[in-house]
Order: sequence, then C-alpha cells, then structure tokens
Amino acid sequence: VRRRSQLMSEFALIRQFFTALGAARADVALGVGDDCALLKVPAGQQLAVSIDTLTAGVHFFADCAPAAVGHKALAVGLSDLAAMGAQPAWATLALTLPSADAAWLAAFSAGFAELAHAHDVQLVGGDTTRGALSVTVQVHGFIPDGAAVRRAGAQVGDVICVSGTLGDAGLALRGMLAGSAVAPELQQRLEYPTPRVQLGLALRGLATAMIDLSDGLFGDLAHLLTASGVGAEVALAQLPLSPLVAAAVAQADDWALPLASGDDYELCCCVPAAQLATAQARAAAVGVALQPIGRIEAATGVRWRLPNGEMWCAVAGSYDHFATS
Ligand code: ADP
Ligand code: MG
Repeated sequence: VRRRSQLMSEFALIRQFFTALGAARADVALGVGDDCALLKVPAGQQLAVSIDTLTAGVHFFADCAPAAVGHKALAVGLSDLAAMGAQPAWATLALTLPSADAAWLAAFSAGFAELAHAHDVQLVGGDTTRGALSVTVQVHGFIPDGAAVRRAGAQVGDVICVSGTLGDAGLALRGMLAGSAVAPELQQRLEYPTPRVQLGLALRGLATAMIDLSDGLFGDLAHLLTASGVGAEVALAQLPLSPLVAAAVAQADDWALPLASGDDYELCCCVPAAQLATAQARAAAVGVALQPIGRIEAATGVRWRLPNGEMWCAVAGSYDHFATS
C-alpha cells in the first residue's frame, strides 16, 4: 500500500535527481516533466533504439555502489548503440526502488550523469515505481540512413577482431562470489564498463558485421556468425587478455573465463583482410586496441584453436537467463 506522503517525496526526488540529467541537447524540444518527451531526429538519420534491464541480485549485487549501478545501466545501452555504429543522443530510465532513499538516488544519478555527459546523452523521461530494485534504460542514437553495422554481413575471408581485453569482469565477479580480494582494475571493469562508442563510430563503413560482447565471445560470436550465415576459426592464443586474466587462464587452462563469463562490453567486428590495418589505425586513433583473433570461413560453427594447435571443445556456453541445466 503506497502512502500519499511517500508518493509526494518520490516525485520530489525525481524532480531533484532526474529532471536535468546529462547533456542539454538542442534536438530535445521537451524533456522530463510532461506526459511525453518531444524529440527531433535529424533528417537523413535513422533512430537506433535499445533497452536493457539490470536487476539487483541478478545483474549486480544489491549492495553494489549506487554510482556503479547508474553508470552500468547506461553503459550497457551505449554498448549496444556502439555495436551498430550509432551516435548516442537520448535515454529514458525506468526505476523500480524498494524505497525513496535520497543518498542512494543521489549517487546513482551522479554515476548515470557522468557517463551521460561524456557521450552527450540527455535523459528525456522515465518512470518510477516501488518494488524490488531494478533499473531499465532505453537508449536512442542516430545512424545515417543505411549506415548501421549489423550482425549480418560478415564475408568469408574477413578478419575477426576484438577490442580491449576479455574476461576481466568475469574474473572480478568470480573473486567477489568467492569472497576473495579483487584487484581494483578488475572490479572497475565489472562495475564501470566502458562502452566503445567512439570505436563503433570509427568502424562504420569499414566493418562488415559487428556485435558487442555482453554475454561472452563464445555466445556472442555465434550470434554474429548465425546472422551472417558463415562460420569461423579463432586462435585462442590471439585473444587479448590482461595479465591477471592471462595468468588465470594459464593456471587452470580455463578458456571459459575469457570466452563465456560475460560483461566484457567490448566490440567484436569483422573487417575485410585488406582493411585490417585501417581498422586498427582508426581504433588506435580513439585509444582502443583492436586485436585480430580469427577468420570468417564458409563452414558454419567455430573452430577454437588452442595455442598447442589442438581444438578446444567448449564445455560452457555464454550466460543464458533461462537456461534449464
Ligand atoms: P505519467 O504518470 O504521465 O506517466 P510520471 O508521473 O510517470 O508521468 O512521470 C512524470 C514525468 O517524469 C515524465 O516526464 C516522466 O518521463 C518523468 N520521469 C518519471 N520517472 C523518471 C525517471 N526515473 N527518470 C527520468 N524521468 C522520469
Ligand atoms: Mg509514468
């Protein structure tokens, strides 16, 4: 049962924390405050839209720093925009909160706002309800008509590339679940992922296919290959790994760590072999490493080649919320 006084304070908190959040964009005719936002998509551009929910206890620990929850809730959406080559513009936010905790909301909105400002994103609306802690963010971005980089489009002979490093967030999560000390740089990768927005834009017109790695390369590359109707060979020795993840893989021969633990928020793209150097130069220009890891082949499925030349047989898939086993 909701008491009126509680409702009033919730509206006050929305006003305080969410009315002027992020950039102030000229293409927002009307933002937070009315029944709808009024938004102007530039002529000749398509609107790219994606929505993600983060639920306490599933996607983040209930006691996770609220600034990190705010950051990550926006970051995962921006990563989807990046994977299409879209320029971020607007976001909406549906918040379900167990209580109107002003300190929590202040830190949450600050974490959200910092990333929003960094990508010139304006929060233009949302919804606030009471219940178990859950955060849903819809992001909106622009792509010139027909310029989106889709999952479909990979061609036989293309080089498969991955940005940044894989498995850092997974190693952090593993440590936190085990109650052991977690290196700060790994915890940062789990809680404050960096969406590769500038890289996505830089690869527009060059990448033949692209996907962002939210569930792990093992599953996400399969999505790209299925959409493109092709297969691949990947050299595990070429996976970009941070020293800590490389050590963990070497210690237990644990390839599932970089391949299937998820939350990487790196980009996986395919580029024609003749364009690899250009793609890497464009990535370097935006401060991100782009590592070639394999080739597109006609035969469907993925051949994961171990450093010793043998083939790796997958024992773990990527994260599936509805998996039955
Ligand atoms: P309505 O009842 O007409 O749907 P609401 O009371 O839900 O309106 O919201 C009032 C205004 O506040 C709307 O402009 C809505 O977009 C905005 N809003 C509500 N919750 C949030 C939020 N968490 N973040 C941003 N804007 C919000
Ligand atoms: Mg509403």
